[in-house]
Amino acid sequence: MKPTVTSKGRLIVISAPSGAGKTSLIAALLNTHRDRLHLSVSTTTRPPRPGEVHGKDYFFCEQDIFKQRIDDGEFLEWALVHGNYYGTSRDWIEAQLKQGNFVVLEIDWQGAQQIRAQFPNERVVSIFIRPPSIEVLRERLVARGKDTAEVIDERVRAAAEELAHANEFDYVIMNQEFAAALRDLNGLVAQIISTPA
Ligand code: 5GP
Repeated sequence: MKPTVTSKGRLIVISAPSGAGKTSLIAALLNTHRDRLHLSVSTTTRPPRPGEVHGKDYFFCEQDIFKQRIDDGEFLEWALVHGNYYGTSRDWIEAQLKQGNFVVLEIDWQGAQQIRAQFPNERVVSIFIRPPSIEVLRERLVARGKDTAEVIDERVRAAAEELAHANEFDYVIMNQEFAAALRDLNGLVAQIISTPA
């Protein structure tokens, strides 16, 4: 007999200050659960970093277009982060949920608050990935070599603000050591995927 599909999908919100290792962890997470997880690709007004691909890492767009899209209600959530706008496509997320998919949203704490406000608890699981300390975070941003000193200062300042919101999340994973953090994240997501909402 064919199983009846009654699940309506769930949103897995993952937030972390930049440099907390979130992007590498999420890439590895998606690789492990390739057949079950769908990553939401955000739209941003931030210029692409070297190597970033339009439509894969982000949809890059001009600020006036972004603001028009806000007015048109195209974003399920949006926020101004480090001076740039970022937003999640409402249509895409709703289509994924209707299909019963598990969607990963890599967004900041402001976006996480907006998502929690719009969906019942059982539809959203939020995970915060934190660096061991602000000092370690600064070292990682410097080692990454992708941002200027001013940008790094601004990101460290924003990270302190972001960390103050860690307690709003359902789960907090400390990324002290990549392999251990990935094991925690993979285990947690495996549990989420296998538990009916
Ligand atoms: P980055 O520019 O380093 O890729 O991302 C900067 C910050 O913006 C990160 O904290 C990231 O989680 C957040 N971000 C990326 N996309 C979105 C989005 O669609 N909505 C919100 N609220 N934040 C986002």
